[in-house]
Amino acid sequence: LASKHFKKEPTIVTLKNGVQIGGDEFVVMAGPCSVESEEQLRIIAKAVYDSGSRILRGGVFKPRTSPYAFQGLGIEGLKLMRKVADELGMAIVTELMGTEHLDEFVKYVDIIQIGARNMQNFDLLKAVGRTNTPVLLKRGLSNTIEEWLMSAEYILASGNENVILCERGIRTFEKYTRNTLDISAVLAVRELSHLPVIIDPSHAAGKWEMIEQLSLASMAVGADGLIVEVHHEPEKALSDGAQSLKPKKFDEMMAKLEKLSTVL
Ligand code: PEP
Ligand code: MN
Repeated sequence: LASKHFKKEPTIVTLKNGVQIGGDEFVVMAGPCSVESEEQLRIIAKAVYDSGSRILRGGVFKPRTSPYAFQGLGIEGLKLMRKVADELGMAIVTELMGTEHLDEFVKYVDIIQIGARNMQNFDLLKAVGRTNTPVLLKRGLSNTIEEWLMSAEYILASGNENVILCERGIRTFEKYTRNTLDISAVLAVRELSHLPVIIDPSHAAGKWEMIEQLSLASMAVGADGLIVEVHHEPEKALSDGAQSLKPKKFDEMMAKLEKLSTVL
């Protein structure tokens, strides 16, 4: 079902606020790694909205390597996201880690994110597949493109056609960057599938200094959009500060993307 042999026309995922992913527009989802407080979220949401983003990202259930690291605000954070996004007319994308909160996610969320670490959590894939809420399926840290598309197949086979793929860097021997951005994965997905595909340069690079250029490269390679981490005080962020853009940098990047889009 994910294959181009099954369906030739590109899939366009339409959100409740009218934003389309996989259509003509290059869509930039942006926001903090983690929702930390109402004030933090509102400052960042307003900033990314003013720069042109219409989809607010933010984690409320966080898949942290250490059990002692900030785990997210949970359902309270989810309600905060909905509230702040509604004030601005934005959609929200946030990660679901287990099936126990599925009903609340269907109620509050516009795009359910399946994180890299859960790409092959097949019960979770089947559960989101039984809803019709759009799903952002991140590529696993060590998964092939074929395995990634098979995970998309699980969601589609359960009845949900609204799948967006997200390349977020893979594990290689290279340690200079957090992960290695597999930019050619976009071309492979285009060849093999009708599903939209976006890039997460933040988790790929792990360094804010690289985000702008990787984002421009993502547009140049033909991705349908980006998901980018933004924080107004990255040095104080409870997670992923080192890879978060400040609002001003994000705004400059959006202007450069706009300019690039006119020559492509
Ligand atoms: C995230 O987007 O906050 C995240 C944890 O990403 P990934 O699953 O790609 O590591
Ligand atoms: Mn993060």
